[in-house]
Amino acid sequence: MQQRSIKRKIRCSGAGLHSGRRVGLVFRPAAENSGIIFHVKGAHGARTLRPDPELVSCTCLATTLGLEEGARVSTVEHLMAAVRGLGIDNMHIDVEGGEIPIMDGSAAVFVRLFGEAGLRVQDAPRRVARIRESARFEREGKYIAVEPYDGFLVDCSISFPHPSIGAQRFCLNLTPETFPEVADARTFGFLRDVEALRESGLALGGSLDNAVVLDDKGVLNPEGLRRPDEFVRHKILDFIGDAAMFPLPLRGKFRLHCTGHGLNNEFLRHLSAHPGLWARAIEGCPQRETPRLYSPLPRAAAAYAG
Ligand SMILES: [Zn+2]
Repeated sequence: MQQRSIKRKIRCSGAGLHSGRRVGLVFRPAAENSGIIFHVKGAHGARTLRPDPELVSCTCLATTLGLEEGARVSTVEHLMAAVRGLGIDNMHIDVEGGEIPIMDGSAAVFVRLFGEAGLRVQDAPRRVARIRESARFEREGKYIAVEPYDGFLVDCSISFPHPSIGAQRFCLNLTPETFPEVADARTFGFLRDVEALRESGLALGGSLDNAVVLDDKGVLNPEGLRRPDEFVRHKILDFIGDAAMFPLPLRGKFRLHCTGHGLNNEFLRHLSAHPGLWARAIEGCPQRETPRLYSPLPRAAAAYAG
């Protein structure tokens, strides 16, 4: 599998979820092995940011990349889900206004945009981070369990005591062909939380145009849901986007239960801190792995250690 970029420069704009202001993006093709590079324009010129779980500074409302004031970009997850969902490896993203426009609360607009730009297959093979050992990451009953798998498979379940949600489960084996199954699933929130956020000066751009909003009885959006299980599909979309904060595309099977941006980021940091759990590899080429960073203790030493 070869790396991909977009064929030509393309731009878009829309409302920022946090500020409510109009924010703009320019996407530009990038050379192979460049990765995804954000150029964040602030008062002090443009700063460069690359996906890195350690550089995720806030996960309360959406995922924010960047630690410094003026060099951050908020609400990256739906855009990055489209990037990974379509298999884009290399691209420059110029960000004006400090956040990614919320659009309709899903990745659908970005998918359409990259479709208009067209995708270019490059010469270099895709480099990935392949999960090599099973692991389970758990916090207060919520969890992410991983195991080796030659692809990116997400099996997600959620449980909300609400008449419109309840227990939902969806499984996606991610490819550019299957990504539309989750790409148009919108973010969702509860009216009481939205009102509290507004009073705190947050989510100023949030509205029924870019989120499914629920009160205690049901969905407030006049058009209703796009699919009955739109909620769990959006959780998968968020996981795809948040997992794109890992520097290389991850390859593995992921079982998620009631995940959110915070847990997703903690999990990625756990992977970063435990390089024995994964290996750099060339996609579709099982032999090309870096050697293990540690080896089991010899028998005698193990006996002493015990
Ligand atoms: Zn989301």
